Amino acid sequence: MAVAELSGLGLIREKIGANERLDFEDGLTLMESDDVLQLGELADAARRRRGGADEVYFVQNLYLNQTNVCRVKCKFCAFAVTQKQEGAYTYTGAELVEDALRQRELTGFTEIHMVGGESPHVDFDYYVDIIRKLNEAMPEVHLKCFTASEIHHMTKLSGLTHEEVLRELRDAGLGSLPGGGAEVFADRVRRLVAPGKEHPDVWIDTHRTAHGLGIPTHCTMLYGHVETYEERVDHLLRLRDLQDETGGFLAFIPLAFHPENTVFERRGWTFTPGSDDLKLIAVSRLLLDNVPHVKAYWIMMGLPLAQVALHFGADDVQGTVVREEIFHAAGAETETEQKIEELVRVIQAAGRVPVQRDTLYNELRRWE
Ligand code: SF4
Repeated sequence: MAVAELSGLGLIREKIGANERLDFEDGLTLMESDDVLQLGELADAARRRRGGADEVYFVQNLYLNQTNVCRVKCKFCAFAVTQKQEGAYTYTGAELVEDALRQRELTGFTEIHMVGGESPHVDFDYYVDIIRKLNEAMPEVHLKCFTASEIHHMTKLSGLTHEEVLRELRDAGLGSLPGGGAEVFADRVRRLVAPGKEHPDVWIDTHRTAHGLGIPTHCTMLYGHVETYEERVDHLLRLRDLQDETGGFLAFIPLAFHPENTVFERRGWTFTPGSDDLKLIAVSRLLLDNVPHVKAYWIMMGLPLAQVALHFGADDVQGTVVREEIFHAAGAETETEQKIEELVRVIQAAGRVPVQRDTLYNELRRWE
């Protein structure tokens, strides 16, 4: 049958077979489909057609938050506090280094993933200082730090441009940007869930600027709240456009919205259904034909669903995300090693080849 005579998923299957790019209408057809298994099969087929093989990646990383003080008050956020609230913290560079070095003695992490609130009580030098100190203490560790929103916040603190802020951070040792802060780009959604955040174009422009300075970045979408299917597809296509322009995204990470401890929990909201999580993985893999990797972030999806997502187009399960306690006796297996064993087992049980990577997807270890 000629491609023109087909419709729905049949047409999309033909387009994938012919290496044709999917458009907005195709994205909507995919989002509206309840045939999740077919979406997964199409996504995995598309991934393989573009050169993907059996490797599934993970990284050994340390998560740090420099501060939980934030001025923005996003409605989906259960992390931020004000300076005066109980439990508010802002760590100095020395404290962050001390913590990271202690963890480094116990685990061999290759990446520090650090993000935090937008505190009005620090200045730009604070951010440069913590990056410089971490880099000097651990020059071999990749520093993946600060969302585009935080970079924008730094321009407000300093009066510098986004490029000047990024350049200073890069020169101090910043390696890449995580993808947070994108939420859903549509103005309507932004007004409802994050009215205090900058315009979505700022997120796009900040990543474009980072790519221009040779700083690779990640991209995300926070889904499962008030967004429509159209707004999801629009978000993914805006990311694809930027990737066409710069090629600077390393991976896409769909982030499922968790309503607990937010206003949405009080309104009776609950977790995204697993079928929607799998749909997001599959549709993003199909539409983002130019982004090398899609992550099934096991911390948010749970390991069993992340394992299934490996057959829906994902090829990365993110990181070990374990904090070691000093009381692990010398010689005892650390929780990180246990987590690596668990990730390896889960990936192998899915019929895939586990590969430990660094942030830039260089291979460090492989389990055949
Ligand atoms: S900017 Fe980040 S830390 Fe601040 S309220 Fe929004 S999501 Fe929370």
